Amino acid sequence: KTVAGETKRGTMQIHPMATTRLLVPVVLVGGALWLRVFLDKLGPETRVALAYSPYLLCAVALFLAYQFNRCRLMLAAFGVAVFFWIVQNHLQVSLSQPDASRLYLALSLALPLLCLFLLLVPETGIWNLQGLILSLLFVFLALVCAQLAQWLPEASDAAAQYYRARPTEGYVISRGATLLVALVLVVGLVLVVVRNEEAEAAILGVLGALYFLLALLHLEDISVVMCVAAGLCLVWGLLRSTHAMAYRDELTGLLGRRALGERLNRLGRRYCIAMLDVDHFKKFNDKHGHDVGDEVLRMVSAHIDRVGSGGTAYRYGGEELCVVFPRKSLDEAAAALDSVREQISDYRMSIRDRGKRPARARDGARRRGATRLGSSQVAVTISAGVAERSEDYPRPDEVVMYADKMLYRAKKAGRNRVIY
Ligand code: GH3
Ligand code: MG
Ligand code: MG
Repeated sequence: KTVAGETKRGTMQIHPMATTRLLVPVVLVGGALWLRVFLDKLGPETRVALAYSPYLLCAVALFLAYQFNRCRLMLAAFGVAVFFWIVQNHLQVSLSQPDASRLYLALSLALPLLCLFLLLVPETGIWNLQGLILSLLFVFLALVCAQLAQWLPEASDAAAQYYRARPTEGYVISRGATLLVALVLVVGLVLVVVRNEEAEAAILGVLGALYFLLALLHLEDISVVMCVAAGLCLVWGLLRSTHAMAYRDELTGLLGRRALGERLNRLGRRYCIAMLDVDHFKKFNDKHGHDVGDEVLRMVSAHIDRVGSGGTAYRYGGEELCVVFPRKSLDEAAAALDSVREQISDYRMSIRDRGKRPARARDGARRRGATRLGSSQVAVTISAGVAERSEDYPRPDEVVMYADKMLYRAKKAGRNRVIY
């Protein structure tokens, strides 16, 4: 039912570390700015070839976006190619010409507005109705920007001044457009830390690259280097998101089995492994419905993901999680886990106003079983088993098995506990 890359519903979380995703776009755009001055040392043939490289990169990005069914990045790649084409074919003249000036204004409005659009809309995939609607809206918005560029300078003198290109100031883009770009940048930064996905960072990279293109349009080769940077941001974002597709679990956002397998292969001589399982989860699902169950699983995963002591959480399968603690003793690992176990058992999740709850869940609410508090709050507990690598259990799979055994004991002993 879910589309890859779909934003996660439920409790909003902030991922401060997601800002590191911006590192590559920043390096690409900064590098392009820096490398531009060396371009005139290249031979004429190389320069002609270079002038086609943005198209090539956009084609690669389009192909990847198509392959991985990413509508937003596909539209972005299409947009960058068209942007480059317009700059190359219509903006290599003085902006004092009215036509060129209007076209320039249209581009400087379209850049922030279309980026904002791509940042805000959810990923829908390409070949479906939503994908089609998104694409049509994208084109429609571009046309609106073209219209705005005709209308704004005539609306009032103040607007004309505010959106006037400033080629004489050595900094071409208008104040109004700069402000719009800054606003979109802020929105994008918020989305990066909230959604924690690759696409937003790639779109922000495009925004930055094309902003510099417009702002420094008077510099030679700026359009080529900046569109190359924008194309690279998109290709990078697409490759990164396929990596996430392979290694991250869609529902919880945790690393998945594949990542766990690779991690287990490169552990040192000292580590602990914990196996965790949600208590009475079958009953919980029966009572509240699978949707609420999924949401609880996300909540539990988010807590486990923040376990201390350098532990990394993986979704082992179903409602079972695995935490790997490299270079930690049994006591340290168990203490960290026990603290999240307590947080989870104390956590009350509100399930009111969930319009999409199936009727079955409401009926089930009257039955007995998992914990129910008041009419709108639910809580779950988890059990965990922890094991340490030792001479008796020297291999990771043996440690996992032993941790599983401890988990079984925790269940037997009454659940909501950590046993090691
Ligand atoms: P126990 O305390 O012994 O673990 O009881 P339990 O009911 O949790 O038993 P078990 O671990 O065997 O149950 C697993 C249940 O978890 C089955 C399934 O209904 C539920 N489950 C597994 N994966 C998912 C998921 O992705 N979403 C939801 N909503 N439920 C899941
Ligand atoms: Mg289970
Ligand atoms: Mg269970």
